[in-house]
Amino acid sequence: MSKLARRAWFAYFLAAAMLVGLIVILVRYAVGAPDWMPFQKNGLVVDRSGTMLMDNTDGKSELADNATVRAAMLHILGDTQGYISPYLLNEYGDEMSGYDRFTGTRHTGNGYGRMQLTVSAYAQEAAVYAFGGQKGTIGVYNYKTGEILCMVSSPTYDPRNVPDVAGNPDAYEGVYVNRFLHSAYAPGSTFKLVTAAAALEEIDGIEDRVFHCDGSALIGDEVVICNAVHGDIGFKEALCQSCNVAFARVAQELGAERLSKYADAFGIGKSLAFDGFITKKGNFDLSDATTFEAAWAGVGQYTDQINPCQYMTFMGAIANGGEAAQPYLVESVYFGDREEYRAAHKTCGTMLDRQTADELTDMMHYNVVNNYGEWYFSGLYAGAKSGTAERAEGQAPNALLAGFVRSEDYPLAFVVIVEGGGAGSAACTPIIRQVLDACIVAMNS
Ligand SMILES: [Zn+2]
Repeated sequence: MSKLARRAWFAYFLAAAMLVGLIVILVRYAVGAPDWMPFQKNGLVVDRSGTMLMDNTDGKSELADNATVRAAMLHILGDTQGYISPYLLNEYGDEMSGYDRFTGTRHTGNGYGRMQLTVSAYAQEAAVYAFGGQKGTIGVYNYKTGEILCMVSSPTYDPRNVPDVAGNPDAYEGVYVNRFLHSAYAPGSTFKLVTAAAALEEIDGIEDRVFHCDGSALIGDEVVICNAVHGDIGFKEALCQSCNVAFARVAQELGAERLSKYADAFGIGKSLAFDGFITKKGNFDLSDATTFEAAWAGVGQYTDQINPCQYMTFMGAIANGGEAAQPYLVESVYFGDREEYRAAHKTCGTMLDRQTADELTDMMHYNVVNNYGEWYFSGLYAGAKSGTAERAEGQAPNALLAGFVRSEDYPLAFVVIVEGGGAGSAACTPIIRQVLDACIVAMNS
Protein backbone atom coordinates (compact mmCIF):
# COMPACT_ATOMS: atom_id res chain seq x y z
CA MET A 1 0.00 0.00 0.00
CA SER A 2 1.41 3.41 -0.91
CA LYS A 3 2.06 6.07 1.73
CA LEU A 4 -0.71 8.19 0.21
CA ALA A 5 -3.28 5.39 0.42
CA ARG A 6 -2.30 4.70 4.06
CA ARG A 7 -2.88 8.37 4.89
CA ALA A 8 -6.25 8.30 3.16
CA TRP A 9 -7.30 5.24 5.19
CA PHE A 10 -6.13 6.93 8.39
CA ALA A 11 -8.23 9.99 7.55
CA TYR A 12 -11.27 7.77 6.96
CA PHE A 13 -10.65 6.06 10.27
CA LEU A 14 -10.49 9.40 12.11
CA ALA A 15 -13.67 10.62 10.46
CA ALA A 16 -15.51 7.40 11.37
CA ALA A 17 -14.32 7.58 14.98
CA MET A 18 -15.54 11.16 15.25
CA LEU A 19 -18.89 10.21 13.81
CA VAL A 20 -19.31 7.37 16.31
CA GLY A 21 -18.36 9.71 19.16
CA LEU A 22 -20.85 12.31 17.97
CA ILE A 23 -23.66 9.76 17.81
CA VAL A 24 -22.86 8.54 21.34
CA ILE A 25 -22.97 12.09 22.69
CA LEU A 26 -26.25 12.89 20.90
CA VAL A 27 -27.93 9.71 22.12
CA ARG A 28 -26.73 10.25 25.69
CA TYR A 29 -27.93 13.84 25.52
CA ALA A 30 -31.35 12.90 24.16
CA VAL A 31 -31.85 10.17 26.75
CA GLY A 32 -30.20 11.66 29.80
CA ALA A 33 -30.31 15.45 29.53
CA PRO A 34 -33.52 15.95 31.52
CA ASP A 35 -31.95 14.07 34.43
CA TRP A 36 -28.87 16.27 34.43
CA MET A 37 -31.00 19.08 35.80
CA PRO A 38 -32.79 18.54 39.09
CA PHE A 39 -36.46 17.86 38.44
CA GLN A 40 -38.40 20.84 39.64
CA LYS A 41 -41.59 19.75 41.25
CA ASN A 42 -43.42 22.82 40.16
CA GLY A 43 -46.71 21.96 38.66
CA LEU A 44 -50.42 21.47 38.86
CA VAL A 45 -52.45 18.42 37.79
CA VAL A 46 -56.18 18.84 37.16
CA ASP A 47 -58.97 16.54 35.99
CA ARG A 48 -61.00 16.96 32.77
CA SER A 49 -63.11 19.74 34.28
CA GLY A 50 -60.26 21.59 36.05
CA THR A 51 -60.62 20.08 39.54
CA MET A 52 -57.26 20.12 41.34
CA LEU A 53 -55.74 16.68 41.83
CA MET A 54 -52.15 17.63 42.72
CA ASP A 55 -50.64 21.08 43.32
CA ASN A 56 -46.89 21.51 43.70
CA THR A 57 -46.74 25.14 42.61
CA ASP A 58 -44.84 27.73 44.65
CA GLY A 59 -43.45 25.20 47.10
CA LYS A 60 -46.88 23.74 47.92
CA SER A 61 -47.43 20.00 48.17
CA GLU A 62 -51.17 19.45 47.99
CA LEU A 63 -53.54 16.79 46.75
CA ALA A 64 -57.30 16.82 46.07
CA ASP A 65 -59.43 18.05 48.98
CA ASN A 66 -61.59 14.94 48.91
CA ALA A 67 -60.04 11.83 50.53
CA THR A 68 -61.94 9.44 48.21
CA VAL A 69 -60.65 11.28 45.14
CA ARG A 70 -57.11 11.11 46.52
CA ALA A 71 -57.52 7.35 46.95
CA ALA A 72 -59.04 7.01 43.47
CA MET A 73 -56.06 8.84 41.91
CA LEU A 74 -53.36 6.89 43.79
CA HIS A 75 -52.53 4.51 40.94
CA ILE A 76 -52.48 7.30 38.34
CA LEU A 77 -50.44 9.93 40.21
CA GLY A 78 -48.26 7.63 42.32
CA ASP A 79 -47.63 7.58 46.05
CA THR A 80 -45.24 9.58 48.24
CA GLN A 81 -43.28 6.58 49.53
CA GLY A 82 -42.03 5.36 46.17
CA TYR A 83 -44.06 2.15 45.91
CA ILE A 84 -46.24 3.39 43.05
CA SER A 85 -44.39 5.18 40.26
CA PRO A 86 -45.65 8.64 39.21
CA TYR A 87 -45.61 7.56 35.57
CA LEU A 88 -47.26 10.70 34.22
CA LEU A 89 -44.98 13.14 36.04
CA ASN A 90 -41.97 11.15 34.87
CA GLU A 91 -43.18 10.96 31.28
CA TYR A 92 -44.05 14.66 31.04
CA GLY A 93 -41.34 16.00 33.39
CA ASP A 94 -39.74 18.08 30.62
CA GLU A 95 -43.01 19.64 29.54
CA MET A 96 -44.13 20.29 33.12
CA SER A 97 -40.92 22.14 33.91
CA GLY A 98 -40.73 24.01 30.61
CA TYR A 99 -37.49 22.27 29.72
CA ASP A 100 -36.26 22.88 26.18
CA ARG A 101 -34.27 19.99 24.77
CA PHE A 102 -32.69 22.08 22.00
CA THR A 103 -31.38 24.98 24.01
CA GLY A 104 -30.92 22.97 27.22
CA THR A 105 -32.62 25.68 29.23
CA ARG A 106 -35.84 26.16 31.07
CA HIS A 107 -38.28 28.84 30.16
CA THR A 108 -37.88 31.75 32.50
CA GLY A 109 -40.54 33.75 34.22
CA ASN A 110 -43.17 32.86 36.76
CA GLY A 111 -44.76 30.03 34.81
CA TYR A 112 -45.45 26.59 36.12
CA GLY A 113 -46.52 23.33 34.55
CA ARG A 114 -50.21 22.46 34.27
CA MET A 115 -51.25 18.96 33.25
CA GLN A 116 -54.88 18.28 32.35
CA LEU A 117 -56.03 14.67 32.57
CA THR A 118 -58.94 13.03 30.76
CA VAL A 119 -60.32 11.37 33.90
CA SER A 120 -63.16 12.86 35.89
CA ALA A 121 -62.59 13.23 39.64
CA TYR A 122 -66.34 12.75 40.04
CA ALA A 123 -66.34 9.44 38.15
CA GLN A 124 -63.17 8.31 39.98
CA GLU A 125 -64.88 8.98 43.30
CA ALA A 126 -68.03 7.17 42.15
CA ALA A 127 -65.96 4.11 41.22
CA VAL A 128 -64.29 3.86 44.64
CA TYR A 129 -67.69 4.12 46.33
CA ALA A 130 -69.20 1.58 43.97
CA PHE A 131 -66.47 -0.97 44.74
CA GLY A 132 -67.09 -0.45 48.44
CA GLY A 133 -63.75 -1.99 49.39
CA GLN A 134 -64.05 -5.03 47.09
CA LYS A 135 -60.92 -5.85 45.12
CA GLY A 136 -60.86 -5.42 41.38
CA THR A 137 -60.74 -2.73 38.76
CA ILE A 138 -62.81 -0.63 36.39
CA GLY A 139 -62.06 1.44 33.33
CA VAL A 140 -64.34 3.49 31.10
CA TYR A 141 -63.17 5.32 28.00
CA ASN A 142 -64.44 7.18 24.98
CA TYR A 143 -63.76 4.81 22.10
CA LYS A 144 -63.99 7.59 19.50
CA THR A 145 -61.40 9.92 21.07
CA GLY A 146 -59.45 7.63 23.43
CA GLU A 147 -60.07 9.71 26.59
CA ILE A 148 -60.10 7.54 29.71
CA LEU A 149 -62.86 8.97 31.90
CA CYS A 150 -62.43 6.55 34.78
CA MET A 151 -59.68 4.15 35.79
CA VAL A 152 -59.65 2.82 39.33
CA SER A 153 -57.78 -0.06 40.91
CA SER A 154 -59.02 -1.47 44.20
CA PRO A 155 -57.90 -1.82 46.98
CA THR A 156 -56.49 1.66 47.25
CA TYR A 157 -55.90 4.18 50.06
CA ASP A 158 -55.66 7.86 50.78
CA PRO A 159 -51.99 8.84 50.34
CA ARG A 160 -52.50 11.53 53.00
CA ASN A 161 -53.50 8.84 55.49
CA VAL A 162 -51.36 5.80 54.66
CA PRO A 163 -52.68 2.61 56.29
CA ASP A 164 -50.68 -0.28 57.73
CA VAL A 165 -50.33 -2.17 54.46
CA ALA A 166 -47.75 -4.68 55.70
CA GLY A 167 -49.86 -5.43 58.78
CA ASN A 168 -52.98 -6.21 56.68
CA PRO A 169 -51.72 -8.31 53.79
CA ASP A 170 -55.17 -9.70 52.88
CA ALA A 171 -56.96 -6.36 52.83
CA TYR A 172 -54.18 -4.68 50.84
CA GLU A 173 -53.19 -7.55 48.55
CA GLY A 174 -51.60 -6.07 45.42
CA VAL A 175 -52.42 -2.50 46.51
CA TYR A 176 -49.34 -1.07 44.79
CA VAL A 177 -50.36 -2.53 41.41
CA ASN A 178 -52.56 -0.66 38.97
CA ARG A 179 -54.76 -3.65 38.22
CA PHE A 180 -56.34 -2.02 35.17
CA LEU A 181 -53.04 -1.53 33.34
CA HIS A 182 -50.61 -3.95 34.94
CA SER A 183 -52.66 -7.09 35.64
CA ALA A 184 -53.99 -9.92 33.53
CA TYR A 185 -57.08 -11.90 34.49
CA ALA A 186 -58.72 -15.13 33.41
CA PRO A 187 -61.56 -13.81 31.22
CA GLY A 188 -64.20 -16.47 31.84
CA SER A 189 -67.14 -16.19 29.49
CA THR A 190 -66.34 -12.62 28.43
CA PHE A 191 -63.94 -14.39 26.06
CA LYS A 192 -66.91 -15.89 24.19
CA LEU A 193 -66.94 -12.54 22.36
CA VAL A 194 -63.61 -13.43 20.71
CA THR A 195 -64.97 -16.82 19.64
CA ALA A 196 -68.26 -15.27 18.52
CA ALA A 197 -66.48 -12.66 16.39
CA ALA A 198 -64.27 -15.32 14.80
CA ALA A 199 -67.34 -17.48 14.08
CA LEU A 200 -69.23 -14.56 12.50
CA GLU A 201 -66.33 -14.03 10.11
CA GLU A 202 -65.44 -17.66 9.41
CA ILE A 203 -68.56 -19.84 9.62
CA ASP A 204 -71.25 -19.23 7.00
CA GLY A 205 -74.76 -19.22 8.42
CA ILE A 206 -73.59 -19.31 12.07
CA GLU A 207 -76.44 -16.93 12.97
CA ASP A 208 -78.99 -19.61 11.99
CA ARG A 209 -77.22 -22.60 13.52
CA VAL A 210 -78.96 -24.53 16.31
CA PHE A 211 -76.85 -26.30 18.94
CA HIS A 212 -77.95 -28.90 21.43
CA CYS A 213 -76.93 -28.69 25.09
CA ASP A 214 -77.57 -31.53 27.53
CA GLY A 215 -75.62 -29.73 30.25
CA SER A 216 -72.36 -31.34 29.15
CA ALA A 217 -70.67 -32.65 26.02
CA LEU A 218 -67.68 -34.78 25.14
CA ILE A 219 -65.15 -32.74 23.15
CA GLY A 220 -61.95 -34.54 22.21
CA ASP A 221 -61.43 -36.84 25.16
CA GLU A 222 -62.79 -34.62 27.95
CA VAL A 223 -66.19 -33.36 29.02
CA VAL A 224 -67.24 -29.72 28.78
CA ILE A 225 -69.64 -28.80 31.58
CA CYS A 226 -72.33 -26.16 31.02
CA ASN A 227 -73.97 -23.87 33.56
CA ALA A 228 -77.41 -25.30 32.68
CA VAL A 229 -79.23 -27.71 30.38
CA HIS A 230 -80.09 -25.41 27.48
CA GLY A 231 -81.62 -27.96 25.08
CA ASP A 232 -81.80 -26.65 21.51
CA ILE A 233 -80.24 -23.21 21.43
CA GLY A 234 -79.35 -20.74 18.63
CA PHE A 235 -76.10 -18.79 18.33
CA LYS A 236 -77.42 -15.47 19.68
CA GLU A 237 -79.23 -17.15 22.56
CA ALA A 238 -76.11 -19.22 23.30
CA LEU A 239 -74.12 -16.02 23.84
CA CYS A 240 -76.91 -14.48 25.92
CA GLN A 241 -77.20 -17.54 28.17
CA SER A 242 -73.46 -18.20 27.95
CA CYS A 243 -73.85 -21.84 26.89
CA ASN A 244 -70.47 -23.57 27.24
CA VAL A 245 -71.49 -26.55 25.12
CA ALA A 246 -72.52 -24.40 22.13
CA PHE A 247 -69.39 -22.26 22.36
CA ALA A 248 -67.05 -25.22 22.83
CA ARG A 249 -68.56 -26.69 19.63
CA VAL A 250 -68.08 -23.38 17.80
CA ALA A 251 -64.48 -23.17 19.06
CA GLN A 252 -63.83 -26.78 18.03
CA GLU A 253 -65.16 -26.05 14.54
CA LEU A 254 -62.96 -22.96 14.24
CA GLY A 255 -59.90 -24.87 15.44
CA ALA A 256 -56.80 -23.69 17.28
CA GLU A 257 -55.22 -21.94 14.32
CA ARG A 258 -58.17 -19.75 13.39
CA LEU A 259 -59.01 -18.96 17.03
CA SER A 260 -55.42 -17.89 17.61
CA LYS A 261 -55.48 -15.71 14.50
CA TYR A 262 -58.51 -13.78 15.76
CA ALA A 263 -57.27 -13.51 19.35
CA ASP A 264 -54.12 -11.99 17.87
CA ALA A 265 -56.08 -9.59 15.65
CA PHE A 266 -58.08 -8.43 18.68
CA GLY A 267 -54.82 -7.70 20.51
CA ILE A 268 -55.26 -10.23 23.35
CA GLY A 269 -51.52 -10.99 23.63
CA LYS A 270 -50.34 -7.44 22.93
CA SER A 271 -49.45 -4.43 25.09
CA LEU A 272 -50.78 -0.92 24.72
CA ALA A 273 -48.37 1.94 25.34
CA PHE A 274 -49.52 5.45 26.25
CA ASP A 275 -48.42 8.29 28.55
CA GLY A 276 -45.44 6.32 29.86
CA PHE A 277 -47.54 3.26 30.72
CA ILE A 278 -47.13 -0.13 29.06
CA THR A 279 -50.02 -2.50 29.74
CA LYS A 280 -49.46 -6.10 30.74
CA LYS A 281 -49.99 -8.58 27.92
CA GLY A 282 -52.82 -11.07 28.01
CA ASN A 283 -52.35 -14.65 26.87
CA PHE A 284 -53.90 -16.93 24.29
CA ASP A 285 -51.54 -19.80 23.54
CA LEU A 286 -52.81 -23.00 21.96
CA SER A 287 -49.43 -24.26 20.78
CA ASP A 288 -49.62 -27.40 22.94
CA ALA A 289 -53.40 -27.60 23.31
CA THR A 290 -55.41 -30.78 22.82
CA THR A 291 -58.74 -30.68 20.96
CA PHE A 292 -60.54 -30.32 24.28
CA GLU A 293 -58.17 -27.62 25.55
CA ALA A 294 -58.53 -25.53 22.36
CA ALA A 295 -62.33 -25.71 22.64
CA TRP A 296 -62.12 -24.92 26.36
CA ALA A 297 -59.92 -21.91 25.56
CA GLY A 298 -62.62 -20.67 23.15
CA VAL A 299 -65.01 -20.66 26.10
CA GLY A 300 -62.54 -18.47 28.04
CA GLN A 301 -60.92 -21.17 30.16
CA TYR A 302 -57.61 -23.09 29.78
CA THR A 303 -54.66 -20.63 30.03
CA ASP A 304 -56.50 -17.58 28.63
CA GLN A 305 -55.67 -14.20 30.17
CA ILE A 306 -56.82 -10.71 29.27
CA ASN A 307 -55.55 -7.29 30.30
CA PRO A 308 -58.54 -5.11 31.32
CA CYS A 309 -57.35 -2.00 29.45
CA GLN A 310 -56.61 -3.88 26.25
CA TYR A 311 -59.95 -5.72 26.40
CA MET A 312 -61.70 -2.36 26.85
CA THR A 313 -60.32 -1.31 23.45
CA PHE A 314 -61.73 -4.52 21.94
CA MET A 315 -65.14 -3.52 23.34
CA GLY A 316 -64.68 -0.09 21.77
CA ALA A 317 -63.84 -1.65 18.41
CA ILE A 318 -67.02 -3.78 18.49
CA ALA A 319 -69.19 -0.74 19.25
CA ASN A 320 -67.39 1.50 16.76
CA GLY A 321 -67.65 -0.57 13.58
CA GLY A 322 -64.43 -2.53 14.05
CA GLU A 323 -61.91 0.14 15.01
CA ALA A 324 -61.38 1.96 18.30
CA ALA A 325 -59.23 4.83 19.53
CA GLN A 326 -56.16 4.11 21.62
CA PRO A 327 -56.75 5.06 25.26
CA TYR A 328 -54.89 7.92 26.91
CA LEU A 329 -54.87 9.87 30.17
CA VAL A 330 -53.08 13.17 29.51
CA GLU A 331 -55.02 15.71 27.45
CA SER A 332 -52.52 18.58 27.58
CA VAL A 333 -49.51 20.03 29.35
CA TYR A 334 -48.85 23.76 29.53
CA PHE A 335 -45.89 25.67 30.89
CA GLY A 336 -47.22 29.11 31.67
CA ASP A 337 -49.23 30.08 28.60
CA ARG A 338 -47.24 27.88 26.32
CA GLU A 339 -48.71 24.58 25.14
CA GLU A 340 -45.97 21.97 25.55
CA TYR A 341 -48.04 18.88 24.73
CA ARG A 342 -51.48 18.01 23.44
CA ALA A 343 -52.83 14.49 22.99
CA ALA A 344 -53.18 13.26 19.43
CA HIS A 345 -56.06 10.89 18.79
CA LYS A 346 -54.63 7.56 17.68
CA THR A 347 -56.32 4.38 16.57
CA CYS A 348 -55.72 0.81 17.69
CA GLY A 349 -56.21 -0.22 14.06
CA THR A 350 -58.97 -2.29 12.47
CA MET A 351 -59.76 -5.31 14.63
CA LEU A 352 -62.99 -6.55 13.00
CA ASP A 353 -64.94 -6.15 9.78
CA ARG A 354 -67.70 -3.59 10.11
CA GLN A 355 -70.42 -6.17 9.48
CA THR A 356 -69.02 -8.49 12.18
CA ALA A 357 -68.74 -5.59 14.62
CA ASP A 358 -72.33 -4.54 13.96
CA GLU A 359 -73.70 -8.08 14.32
CA LEU A 360 -71.80 -8.58 17.57
CA THR A 361 -73.04 -5.20 18.81
CA ASP A 362 -76.62 -6.35 18.27
CA MET A 363 -75.94 -9.67 20.01
CA MET A 364 -74.41 -7.90 23.01
CA HIS A 365 -77.34 -5.49 23.16
CA TYR A 366 -79.64 -8.53 23.16
CA ASN A 367 -77.72 -9.77 26.24
CA VAL A 368 -78.41 -6.50 28.03
CA VAL A 369 -82.11 -6.48 27.15
CA ASN A 370 -82.73 -10.17 27.91
CA ASN A 371 -80.25 -10.93 30.66
CA TYR A 372 -78.48 -8.09 32.48
CA GLY A 373 -81.19 -5.41 32.46
CA GLU A 374 -81.30 -2.18 30.49
CA TRP A 375 -81.85 -0.09 33.62
CA TYR A 376 -78.20 -0.62 34.56
CA PHE A 377 -77.01 1.33 31.52
CA SER A 378 -78.52 4.76 31.98
CA GLY A 379 -81.30 4.02 29.51
CA LEU A 380 -78.81 4.04 26.62
CA TYR A 381 -78.22 1.50 23.84
CA ALA A 382 -75.70 -0.74 25.60
CA GLY A 383 -74.11 -4.10 24.91
CA ALA A 384 -72.28 -6.35 27.34
CA LYS A 385 -71.01 -9.83 28.17
CA SER A 386 -70.44 -11.13 31.66
CA GLY A 387 -67.94 -13.70 32.85
CA THR A 388 -67.30 -15.78 35.95
CA ALA A 389 -63.73 -17.01 36.25
CA GLU A 390 -62.91 -19.81 38.67
CA ARG A 391 -59.98 -19.32 41.02
CA ALA A 392 -58.12 -21.61 43.38
CA GLU A 393 -60.05 -24.14 45.47
CA GLY A 394 -62.00 -22.41 48.24
CA GLN A 395 -61.86 -18.96 46.63
CA ALA A 396 -64.99 -17.34 45.22
CA PRO A 397 -64.71 -16.83 41.44
CA ASN A 398 -63.90 -13.47 39.86
CA ALA A 399 -66.79 -11.58 38.29
CA LEU A 400 -66.29 -9.73 35.01
CA LEU A 401 -68.38 -7.53 32.75
CA ALA A 402 -67.18 -6.04 29.46
CA GLY A 403 -69.22 -3.88 27.14
CA PHE A 404 -70.10 -0.49 25.73
CA VAL A 405 -72.67 2.21 25.22
CA ARG A 406 -73.35 2.89 21.56
CA SER A 407 -74.27 6.53 21.40
CA GLU A 408 -73.13 9.59 19.46
CA ASP A 409 -72.98 11.63 22.66
CA TYR A 410 -71.59 8.97 25.01
CA PRO A 411 -69.45 6.53 23.05
CA LEU A 412 -68.13 4.63 26.07
CA ALA A 413 -66.54 1.20 26.41
CA PHE A 414 -65.85 -0.42 29.77
CA VAL A 415 -64.44 -3.38 31.66
CA VAL A 416 -65.33 -4.14 35.29
CA ILE A 417 -63.71 -6.92 37.35
CA VAL A 418 -64.67 -7.79 40.93
CA GLU A 419 -62.27 -10.31 42.45
CA GLY A 420 -64.17 -12.96 44.36
CA GLY A 421 -67.40 -11.28 43.21
CA GLY A 422 -69.09 -14.54 42.22
CA ALA A 423 -71.48 -14.47 39.28
CA GLY A 424 -70.32 -11.91 36.72
CA SER A 425 -73.31 -9.73 35.99
CA ALA A 426 -74.73 -9.57 39.53
CA ALA A 427 -71.49 -8.23 41.03
CA CYS A 428 -70.58 -5.89 38.16
CA THR A 429 -73.81 -4.31 36.92
CA PRO A 430 -74.46 -2.15 40.03
CA ILE A 431 -70.90 -0.83 39.76
CA ILE A 432 -71.07 -0.01 36.07
CA ARG A 433 -74.40 1.69 36.59
CA GLN A 434 -73.01 4.17 39.12
CA VAL A 435 -69.81 4.79 37.19
CA LEU A 436 -71.51 5.23 33.79
CA ASP A 437 -73.93 7.73 35.32
CA ALA A 438 -70.99 9.69 36.75
CA CYS A 439 -69.11 9.59 33.42
CA ILE A 440 -72.15 10.94 31.61
CA VAL A 441 -72.49 13.76 34.14
CA ALA A 442 -68.78 14.53 33.63
CA MET A 443 -69.17 14.58 29.83
CA ASN A 444 -72.07 17.00 30.11
CA SER A 445 -70.34 19.44 32.44
ZN1 LIG B 1 -75.55 -25.03 27.67
